[in-house]
Amino acid sequence: MRLSQLFSKTIRDFPKEEEAVNAKLLIKAGYIRKLSAGVYAYLPLAWRVLNKINNIIREEMNAIGGQELLMPTLVAKEYWEKSGRWDVDVAFKTQLPTSKSPEFALGWTHEEAVTYLATNFISSYQDLPMAAYQIQTKFRAEARAKNGLLRGREFLMKDLYSFHTDQADLDNYYQKVIDAYKKIMDCLSLNKKYLIAEADGGPFTKEYTHEFQVLAPAGEDEVFYCDGSASPADGSTLPTGVCDFAQNKEISNVKVGDECPRHDGIIQKANGIEVANVFKLGTRYSDAFNLKFKDKAGVDQPVIMGSYGVGPTRLMGALVEVYNDDRGIIWPESVAPYSVYLASLGTQNKKVAELAEKLYTDFSKVGIEVLFDDRDVSAGQKLADADLLGITWRVVVSEKTGNKIEMKARNLQEVKLLSIKEAVNLLSR
Ligand code: ATP
Ligand code: MG
Repeated sequence: MRLSQLFSKTIRDFPKEEEAVNAKLLIKAGYIRKLSAGVYAYLPLAWRVLNKINNIIREEMNAIGGQELLMPTLVAKEYWEKSGRWDVDVAFKTQLPTSKSPEFALGWTHEEAVTYLATNFISSYQDLPMAAYQIQTKFRAEARAKNGLLRGREFLMKDLYSFHTDQADLDNYYQKVIDAYKKIMDCLSLNKKYLIAEADGGPFTKEYTHEFQVLAPAGEDEVFYCDGSASPADGSTLPTGVCDFAQNKEISNVKVGDECPRHDGIIQKANGIEVANVFKLGTRYSDAFNLKFKDKAGVDQPVIMGSYGVGPTRLMGALVEVYNDDRGIIWPESVAPYSVYLASLGTQNKKVAELAEKLYTDFSKVGIEVLFDDRDVSAGQKLADADLLGITWRVVVSEKTGNKIEMKARNLQEVKLLSIKEAVNLLSR
């Protein structure tokens, strides 16, 4: 992609109305724009990042037998009435112009829709277990839309739902989803940056749910956790963890400095961004929709369910909160919109311009994703934008580099002088 033709542009100053680091940096760098409170457009750069995040999630969901589908955004009143969730504060409601009152809620979650769908296809123990997921825009009338992508009124969610014959099978699958989520966190370079915290299961269960909490000052949640056995050297890196005690403040009875109830460590507190959660639903929705299966003896039994959410847009915001410096964003390589930011310094020089064009072609030919800064702007601006955008590798050609090129990783200081061939080898590792 040529930067001169990119739909968005970087801007000089941080947007004044944004307080959150993620929104400030993503808007300044031209990834997103706000259209109203809690409502953002994901511009081409952000959409590439989101698709990479979504594909990482997809791969892990498919690996545990999740089948991707897409459910409607317009979910009719009758479904919500069955579960008793029509009158909730978070729902945006709508109707046909000819109607006097709301007939639909815009999907803010899909337990109702998926359970209804399952009643069409699940009738026997032989139909179970089953798991289906979607990646879709969800709508929520969040009272305070703040914190940029961390709390939107419109946001992406991956929601997986599972169906089982018995509690043991649900428990087993629940653990599989937790393991899949751990792999997703690893792929996003968030390992050691998060905790799995126990949280309130809601009014219908005594069991805890589990939340994946990325530790960052911007996080709205507070998490109490065991420091393992010794104090972590710095608050941003978690102990390697002999003890897994972590609880959301909402349910926790401990305070900072207490002895850990499960281990001989000390309780610490941190702010967390809840990027994912796993939830045992039991028969709450299968009862509401009369979703039953015949067991081996031919007796009707309620289907046992689980639901499991991940927020790709919230994850994108969390990544920016965790990975940035005073010059801009530092994407983990797995989700960077491009792997190379190619900048030609001194475009008036014909040799420099030609070498840059050749690199752009050569890199693209072997499948290296390049954002080519071919703009007629100062070297200073090109280098500043390279850092702001946070793309993994910066490749520079200038009069100074001759036939060689300069390569620098966004997160390192070292600059390497390489031949084109050496660079291609390094990048197509
Ligand atoms: P929270 O407690 O932060 O309001 P939640 O517990 O209501 O979130 P779920 O309904 O379980 O969240 O949604 C699943 C996932 O969707 C969350 O883990 C989060 O990643 C994402 N998510 C939820 N609400 C929002 C929002 N307003 N903006 C962005 N992402 C969200
Ligand atoms: Mg929550």
